[in-house]
Amino acid sequence: MVQSAVSPPIAAPVSPASAAPPASPAPRTRAGKRLSIVAPCFNEQEVLDMFFARIEADLAALGVDYEIVCVNDGSRDHTLAVLLKHHQRNPRVKVINLARNFGKETALSAGLDAATGDMIVPIDVDLQDPPELIGQFLDAWEAGADVAYGVRIDRSADSPLKRLTAQGFYKAFNRMSDVDLPYNAGDYRLMDRRVVEVIRQLPERNRFMKGLFAWVGFNQVAVPYARPERAAGTSSFRYWKLWNFALDGITSFSTAPIRVWSYVGLVAGVLAVGVAGMIVLRTLLFGRDVPGYPSLMVVILMSFGLQMLAIGSLGEYVARIYQEVKGRPLYVVMDRYGFDQAGDGA
Ligand code: UDP
Ligand code: MG
Repeated sequence: MVQSAVSPPIAAPVSPASAAPPASPAPRTRAGKRLSIVAPCFNEQEVLDMFFARIEADLAALGVDYEIVCVNDGSRDHTLAVLLKHHQRNPRVKVINLARNFGKETALSAGLDAATGDMIVPIDVDLQDPPELIGQFLDAWEAGADVAYGVRIDRSADSPLKRLTAQGFYKAFNRMSDVDLPYNAGDYRLMDRRVVEVIRQLPERNRFMKGLFAWVGFNQVAVPYARPERAAGTSSFRYWKLWNFALDGITSFSTAPIRVWSYVGLVAGVLAVGVAGMIVLRTLLFGRDVPGYPSLMVVILMSFGLQMLAIGSLGEYVARIYQEVKGRPLYVVMDRYGFDQAGDGA
């Protein structure tokens, strides 16, 4: 994907005079650029000290200006106090305090809106996204990638059920939608500013970030890594939440779940005509027999179940249309720390 460095042997005739410089764009360099880390935080007081120690050490070694935009997503513990302590210590740590818990996807959007960097890296603060990978992301960016995304090569830290359901989700999603979600890629990635600008302009309120990240396209490069377990604290994603997350993902990238019902109805109709024909034939040949109460019950119950499923799928979309149509802002910011200081742009 990074072929542009090799420069294609086409396109010479445009500038006949200047023979030397190839058409490839100027090589990217991190010098003078700023890297924004965007970290949504929900009840993370135990892990934050460790997070800052690790990431600041790694960032310092990269030779690039940076900021760490932390979004406190309505935490109910001392996360905000801990974040502010780090903001006092290091002004590159900036804090956005949301008015309540809006969920990770929305917190991430708030962070992307506030980030000022030329390259932007969303990261989980529980150290499941190893900060040392950022160096590799940056290398890929310098080599021409607009997006360098982490791919988990080993999910052994997850339970077998979680692995199985995740696999099923990727399969279902990719089959149903036009967008291909890379397997086992999360939100952890480095994105060029121009990619982030496109994502920020997407008007939808239901922000399934993984899907949006894949939808934008651009030059995307995978960087494999082993995903460690959460360093401290507990994951806030339970199965019910994950199921709803999956529903959000599929409904915002595919209409297959509602379109399929026309075909189910068609098949059921054809089947009904066939069965009717069979009954007429049988009555003509063998006369009437005892009416089939059990089979009738089965058919009724099944068609009832199918209709409810169809109406339910429709409801999932209607509910989401309703959410979009209300047009409420995505999130509410209560306080911002570190964004308006003089010299902030450094
Ligand atoms: N998070 C958030 N809002 C929420 C839930 C989670 O900002 O409502 C953050 C959390 O602080 C962490 C990241 O999202 O930085 C990933 O959360 P978690 O580790 O609980 O998810 P998992 O790794 O289990 O998918
Ligand atoms: Mg985690």
